[in-house]
Amino acid sequence: EVIIVLFNRDLRITDHPALHQACQDARQVVPLFVIDPAIPPRGRAGFLIECLEDLRRSLREKGADLVVRRGDVVEETMRVAAETGATAIYASGDVTARARRRESRFAGENIDFQTFPGVTIVPPAKLKPATGDHYRVFTPFYRAWSEIRWRPLVETPETISMPEVRPGDIPTARRKPHLPGGEHEVRRRLDLWLRHCLGDYAAGHDDLAGDHTSRLSPYLRFGCVSPLELATRSGGSEEFVRQLCWRDFYAQVTFAFPRMNHDDYRPGRGEWRHDKEVEDAWREGMTGVPIVDAGMRQLIAEGWMHNRARLIVASFLTKTLRIDWRVGADHFEELLLDGDVANNYGNWQWVAGTGNDTRPYRMLNPVRQAKKFDQDGEYIRRYVPELANVPTATLHEPWRAPSPVLGYTSPIWRG
Ligand code: FAD
Repeated sequence: EVIIVLFNRDLRITDHPALHQACQDARQVVPLFVIDPAIPPRGRAGFLIECLEDLRRSLREKGADLVVRRGDVVEETMRVAAETGATAIYASGDVTARARRRESRFAGENIDFQTFPGVTIVPPAKLKPATGDHYRVFTPFYRAWSEIRWRPLVETPETISMPEVRPGDIPTARRKPHLPGGEHEVRRRLDLWLRHCLGDYAAGHDDLAGDHTSRLSPYLRFGCVSPLELATRSGGSEEFVRQLCWRDFYAQVTFAFPRMNHDDYRPGRGEWRHDKEVEDAWREGMTGVPIVDAGMRQLIAEGWMHNRARLIVASFLTKTLRIDWRVGADHFEELLLDGDVANNYGNWQWVAGTGNDTRPYRMLNPVRQAKKFDQDGEYIRRYVPELANVPTATLHEPWRAPSPVLGYTSPIWRG
């Protein structure tokens, strides 16, 4: 028997339940990735390409290969099935509207199509509250999530036997990504993080300049590392595992509400203002509010932003300026290496008050946040060079300085 393992956002061979099971069930396996030209590559294309190259390398070391095709995922997969005589397709189940449309199209084809866990720690529909179809609030979800037993990690197959099939080309990247992609790279980073940094996480994860978070999010986004393996190996840090639970939380909300990236999850809160000039100033990190500009420029420079800064810039856009959360979320989606529907739009809606926050009216004052989480202004100075020499006393509110800071934009808002 031949089984196709269709890769998507699970670009690894370690703890990969679909791959593991296919190797148990079939004599030969066809690892496949289909590049869908209908999905805009955004800022993540170079990173994805490196992940694919790395996956191909790993599979070649096991005696197989990564077959790459381009086109509609269902049509191309069925074509490869016909070429290789595959009788089944195994894939990791996913939560977005697009992924689930694809899954139901496969279910309508004349082939055995099965989905496996692996994208989240706990499968999205596994936990159900006493009332309602899904958890709307994080804390009870976290309680239930912490109480159930996780599946065991699965072994990586020693060798993978594969039928004769044209491998196909991985495209070359137009631009080098901000970070090197792939499973080998994340395993190196993960070992360092667990050994040297996890201990500082609980106390330091909100410290903007200290930069004590794992920065593993782009690798989790593409599944270069199994979230379950990460949770298992960092089990000593409750604070860190709790963050991984937030990821599972937004996955199960998106599973239940697939229009997460279009519609208000909690309707009736949005009276949004449109102001192109203000939106552009925010996107470019030219608002004149130092902490906001630092965060937005970190995003442009690194394709990543510290979580505390994401909270501040998102609250500033939606709550302070009353600009539609979709404007901010779409911009993040464009530039973030870790950008994904559930986490990005779920968090944006949380901040905007249209999502899962139980206190939807709370508002973060950017100046107070800056004084608390970037006390000495080191983070601001790192990303906003115009402010490098401004004394800390006025750095967070340059509009209070005795004379304007030369070369820095005037503020669109004053705290
Ligand atoms: P760590 O603190 O080391 O956390 C480890 C992992 O836990 C992260 O990699 C991530 O997978 C998960 N995690 C942590 N915080 C959250 C959270 N609040 N929600 C969901 N998962 C979380 N995260 C994304 O992965 N993709 C996004 O597109 C995204 N957009 C966001 C937009 C806004 C407005 C906000 C406020 C947050 C967003 N986040 C997003 C969540 C969070 O900011 C990032 O996951 C985190 O900053 C990534 O850095 P890290 O890997 O160092 O995180």
